[in-house]
Amino acid sequence: MLVSMDCIFCKIAAGEIPSKQLYSDEAVYAFADIDPKAPFHALIIPREHLTSLADAAEHHKAVLGHMHYTAAELARKHGLDNGYRVVINTGADGGQTVSHLHLHLLGGRLMAWPPG
Ligand code: AMP
Ligand code: ZN
Repeated sequence: MLVSMDCIFCKIAAGEIPSKQLYSDEAVYAFADIDPKAPFHALIIPREHLTSLADAAEHHKAVLGHMHYTAAELARKHGLDNGYRVVINTGADGGQTVSHLHLHLLGGRLMAWPPG
């Protein structure tokens, strides 16, 4: 499996940088965002290093589904019964700041639309 030891999220998934783990399995890792933008803010990442959604290939289809299913499970587990938002910031215009694919799961307050 491709990992990059120059990548902060690869290091988090490997346990080399501490994080508050919310879920872990062989393909994905979920942890609390260090600077939460909502009362509940989780990041869900593939263990494989993938720079962004823009670089997803056909063989990533399973892990992309796995990440979304993990979001639904975490939302149920953490009582986000009134709804939540799932976001994948992608590239410069998308506001992506960490170059390892991550899905934001945000909940616990009303989300505005359109996003900024
Ligand atoms: P994005 O702007 O979509 O690339 O999101 C990157 C997210 O990673 C931001 O919400 C940051 O707060 C979060 N983040 C950066 N470093 C860490 C870290 N060491 N642990 C947890 N979350 C982090
Ligand atoms: Zn990485």
